[in-house]
Parts: sequence; C-alpha cells; structure tokens
Amino acid sequence: MDVLQKLEILADAAKYDASCASSGTESRNSLKNQGIGSTSPGMGICHSYTPDGRCISLLKILLTNFCLYECAYCVNRTSSNVPRARFSIDEVVNLTMEFYKRNYIEGLFLSSGIIKSADYTMEQVVAVARKLRLEHRFGGYIHLKTIPEASPELLAEAGLYADRLSINVELPSETSLKRLAPEKNAQSIVRSMANLSSGIEEYKESKKLARKKANKKLIAPKFSPSGQSTQMIVGADTSNDAIILRKASQLYQSFKMKRVYYSAFSPIPDASSELPLKSPPLVREHRLYQADWLLRFYGYGIDELTDVTNDSPSPGMLSLDVDPKLAWAIRHRDAFPVDLNRADFETILRVPGIGVINARRLVAQRKVAALRYQDLSKLRLPIEKLKYFVTTIDHHPKPTQLDAANFSSLFIAQKSQQMNLFE
Ligand code: SF4
Repeated sequence: MDVLQKLEILADAAKYDASCASSGTESRNSLKNQGIGSTSPGMGICHSYTPDGRCISLLKILLTNFCLYECAYCVNRTSSNVPRARFSIDEVVNLTMEFYKRNYIEGLFLSSGIIKSADYTMEQVVAVARKLRLEHRFGGYIHLKTIPEASPELLAEAGLYADRLSINVELPSETSLKRLAPEKNAQSIVRSMANLSSGIEEYKESKKLARKKANKKLIAPKFSPSGQSTQMIVGADTSNDAIILRKASQLYQSFKMKRVYYSAFSPIPDASSELPLKSPPLVREHRLYQADWLLRFYGYGIDELTDVTNDSPSPGMLSLDVDPKLAWAIRHRDAFPVDLNRADFETILRVPGIGVINARRLVAQRKVAALRYQDLSKLRLPIEKLKYFVTTIDHHPKPTQLDAANFSSLFIAQKSQQMNLFE
C-alpha cells in the first residue's frame, strides 16, 4: 500500500476525534533554532479561524487504525471490518514536513489505535514528535493524543515535544466506560490526566519564577505549553446533559483542562447492540458547547442550565429549541425585566442577547448618561430578543408579554436567527 492510500485511510479514521484545537499555544520561532515553521500564540481551532482571519489546518491522522481494543463506539475497534493501514514513523515525519513546506498545514495532530501494547504505541507516537523536533527542527504545532496506560516516562517525553497533549475521557461515567470500552480504565485515565496536569503546572510555575528572578535558567524543560484537552462522546450512552456537564466541570477544575470537546456519537458499521441506532441531534452537541461556555465564563450553575424541574419532559437536558441562556431566562421570567440603568454587571450578563463585552459597555455608558432604547441599537444588540427582558428610561415592556403562556414560542419561531454563543 502506498503512502497516499494509507493517508486516505488514516486521515478518514482520525476524523472522529474532535479534540484538535490549536488555540493558546506558545510562540515557537524557527529562526532561533535554524529549523522550519513557527506557531503564534492565540491561534484558533482546527478547521476554524484565527483572530486575524487565517484558517488553521493540521494534518490530522492516526499512526495506525489497527487496534487491540474493542471500544463499541469506535470504527477502529478490533472487530470492525474496515480497511486497515499503518504509517511508519518516517512516513508521518515526511508527510508532515512535505505538507508544511507546501503550506498545506501548520501542524500535526497525531493519534493512534493501540498496537502490541500501550507503551509500544506511545513510543511510536513520541518517536514521530521527537524526530520532527530534534532532527528536522520542526517549529509548527504538534498535538499528540496520549494513551493513558502508557508509562509516565513516555508521557513526560511527549510533553517535551508537543504543544498540546490530550487524553480522551471518552464517556461521562465509569459505568458506561466499563460497558462500552471494556479495556479502558477510568482510574488510569484520571491518573494520566493528573500527571499531565502537574507537568504543565510545573512548567508554567517555573516560567513565572524565572520571570520574577530574571533568570531564564530557572525555566523547566518545555511541557505541553498549550495545556491538555479531552473529548467526551455524547449520545452513545444514556447520560443526560447535566451528567455530561458535571463531568466536564470536574475535569476543568481538577486538571485545568484547556477544553473539553463534545463529540456526538455517530452510528458505525456493524455496531454493537449496546449502542443507539441513531446519533443524537447535532444541535445537542452545539448546546453543550454553549452551556460549557456559560458555566466557565458567565457564572451559571449546571442545575440552572439544565432543566431539573420534576415536571420536565426531559429532566437534566438542555433545551434543543433555544440556547441555554435564553432557556434559563424563559424559566426565570420573574427575574426580568432588568433595569439596565441600575442592575449590576452580573445581572445584566444574564440578559439574553447581552454578552460580556456589551455588558461592560452598557455599565460604562450609563455612567455618562442614562441608557435609552436607541443606545441598545447603537451597540447592535439583538433588540427583537432583548426588548422583553430589559427596561431603559424610555422603554418598559408590558408585564403581560413576559407572563404570556406562549412566551417561549416567540423565540422558537425565531430559531433561524438564534443568538450566537457569546450573547
Ligand atoms: S482504543 Fe478504543 S477508541 Fe481508541 S482506536 Fe482503539 S478501539 Fe478506537
């Protein structure tokens, strides 16, 4: 099989992994090491855009899709009837360098099925990164997917070369993991995440100390400067959104995850009878990302965002019809309308349609002059949505509108103009 045929198989096999962000990396400049490539901090997500509008592209491949494990949800599981391929270390290195030189990619995302053993596989993955960094002086972005059961020494070496490391938590509960991925072990996953987290913190702390003492020699060897991330599969088990978000919050808090990625389960050929026949609606994945953002940056609690009322038709789930912030506001109409001239910043932030930046602007602006309805238009706020939830000196929504039994239907009808994530 030639390299291009392998590429076709192994790039396709890698597409199910959502955790390939390239954001938040450190600056790495090839001019310093006489090599090739560079990364700049603050880049966007894989197949997304940087703040300056550039599209980030990573060569996203598996080293091999042969795998000894039998994770029911995975197309590469040992019993799966798919064409298999395996790259050699040199093939991955050469492809990366060639694609980089041709400007097709800005980095590499490398994962692998488990062959022979966790350590053997991890050694191969690390060897690719080592060769790129040390022999080819490759300065582009490298994200390595690490194998939790691999030895801590190998994970430590991976941290030396990679901008980001990730370990997939896979499923929101240990019970589901045991059932659907019997060879995986929740404790090893947690242990390895903890190891990565302490390596990352140690490196960060050494940099702070070196800055404070103005002594670069105090900086510890580089360790995954762009942090760690993980991925959770949504819809392969019966975990509701509250369980998924609780697991994510725990991971953010315990291991300072840069991101938790949510990947909607997609049915695979010859799937196990343990799995649902259909994937969850894609919008569920989108709502989880929105809720994740609100939990981390807007101060909401999980129970506030998911519907925990006893009479709810879908307890513990996010609304699919409207975004989680609007859904909260609809459930808490008694908290509205909010007087934009008097309310504190946190209260304004809970108004559907007002994001962090505009909440700050409103608070600053009202110090100069009382806010009027037209000030909201000037800030390009989504007036049609906002008008029910706020008062200004010249705007007072009728209380009957908020209290109307069909209030939520106003927004469901406007679904096609749904607010964006940051509002
Ligand atoms: S370990 Fe599990 S999830 Fe990873 S490639 Fe093998 S079967 Fe797929």
